Amino acid sequence: MLLDQLKTIVGDKGWVTDPEALEPFLSEWRDSFHGRAAIVVMPGSSGEVAAVVRACAASGTSIVPQGGNTGLCGGAIPDATGTQVLLSLSRMNRIRALSPADYSMVVEAGCVLADVQAAAAEVDRLFPLSLAAEGSCQIGGNLSTNAGGTNVVRYGTAREQVLGLEVVLANGDIWDGLRTLRKDTSGYDIRQLFIGAEGTLGIITAASLRLFPRPGTLQTALVAVRDPQAAVDLFAVLRGRLSDQVQAFELISDRAMRYVLKHIPDTRCVFAEASPWYVLLEFSTSAAGEAVEHELLQVIESGLAQDVVLAKNSREQQQMWRIRHSISEAQKREGASLKHDVSVPVGAVGEFIVAAEKAILQTFPGARVVAFGHVGDGNVHFNVSQAKSADASHFLQQRDAMASLVYDIVAKFGGSFSAEHGIGALKRDALREYRSETEIAVMRAVKKALDPHNVMNPGKVL
Ligand SMILES: Cc1cc2nc3c(=O)[nH]c(=O)nc-3n(C[C@H](O)[C@H](O)[C@H](O)COP(=O)(O)OP(=O)(O)OC[C@H]3O[C@@H](n4cnc5c(N)ncnc54)[C@H](O)[C@@H]3O)c2cc1C
Repeated sequence: MLLDQLKTIVGDKGWVTDPEALEPFLSEWRDSFHGRAAIVVMPGSSGEVAAVVRACAASGTSIVPQGGNTGLCGGAIPDATGTQVLLSLSRMNRIRALSPADYSMVVEAGCVLADVQAAAAEVDRLFPLSLAAEGSCQIGGNLSTNAGGTNVVRYGTAREQVLGLEVVLANGDIWDGLRTLRKDTSGYDIRQLFIGAEGTLGIITAASLRLFPRPGTLQTALVAVRDPQAAVDLFAVLRGRLSDQVQAFELISDRAMRYVLKHIPDTRCVFAEASPWYVLLEFSTSAAGEAVEHELLQVIESGLAQDVVLAKNSREQQQMWRIRHSISEAQKREGASLKHDVSVPVGAVGEFIVAAEKAILQTFPGARVVAFGHVGDGNVHFNVSQAKSADASHFLQQRDAMASLVYDIVAKFGGSFSAEHGIGALKRDALREYRSETEIAVMRAVKKALDPHNVMNPGKVL
């Protein structure tokens, strides 16, 4: 009965029930989550989304919104009951408005991130959100997970790119908040509730986004530094000198570098001698390469960095970025690994890495820490590879114990156990443990107010 109603609402092109066709919607990218669904609906408009939500709410059926399904926490995967409705936004992929003069655009939630970037570039504007999954993730998913990526240091997370939202609420009402205002003090800022809510409060159907001028020439450099603290100090100095032109500031440990050079073909380190740590630095500048080189040489003279190589052309830039982007793949080839995507205040990154590595080695002798990440925004990928001689499955069984150890240290530094990707189904226990009762009570109150019958993505986040 409900299924027939839903099929009528979305039309022939808008639903899937065939088990084989359902499959891609029901498993996550890393294959660590798998679910079942009564139907996948793909509405073509906000009105259709609203009608689907009303029908589901009336029959007490819960809904799991899904964007590009590149999330890594099980948030977009239905549960095992086979009763939930999976609502894919993929057919809602129109750009509704694009205003270079207003530096804004209005897009539907199912627009793929790379398409949003390309549309902005066509009118000589920049939409700065950028992550490795940008060819498949959707803007609705990016906002629902408050995605980060490589440009946060200069432009902020997804949250900071949003001027307004259109949302279908749990009762089927459509909230049209697609304003493009920079200044607006009219009451509670409702849009912020839905950003990072992982589909538990409503379904984002469209967003008005902030655009930026396109940056000048991008310069990329690899810098050798003594330790993570030197990288943090270097960031503070360069940010002062180059202002907000610093676009990316990525820390890479020597171990991460060695794994890449060993396992990834056609990679090479630009330095003759290995350094304990490296920084991959990118900044936009109108200055000629020589002027930038001068700035960097000064940094070496001051003792903050040991050596610097500035990429001379786009091929060298790509080679440097290839090292950074290949770390996960290289680490996979070194055996089993446990990953912790955490954040601490930028100034504490150095101390955190030292403290966490010491604790890991005390508790898990022989384990190999592979730390790297977006140090410019305090986000550390604190990954740990198994000891060379260890049994992989035994090592992986220590997942929870190791996560608690790392998260406890993160908490001591005032950090977050979840820097990117969100909570989904994966980190609900950690949310309860590392956020205060007061904070959880406020979250529950918001959920209850906006979704009293728990229709929206139940079992995720809270
Ligand atoms: C190779 C790779 C690299 C990645 N790199 C990064 C990175 O650097 N930074 C980062 O932050 N993440 C990264 N991710 C994770 C992922 O790409 C992001 O979380 C992304 O924002 C998810 O978007 P999506 O469209 O795929 O959402 P999905 O996976 O489909 O959904 C994610 C969550 O949002 C909800 N949701 C989706 N669309 C809507 C909507 N319209 N309304 C309400 N709720 C909705 C879902 O229910 C789910 O809870 C990476 C993933 C991969 C596979």
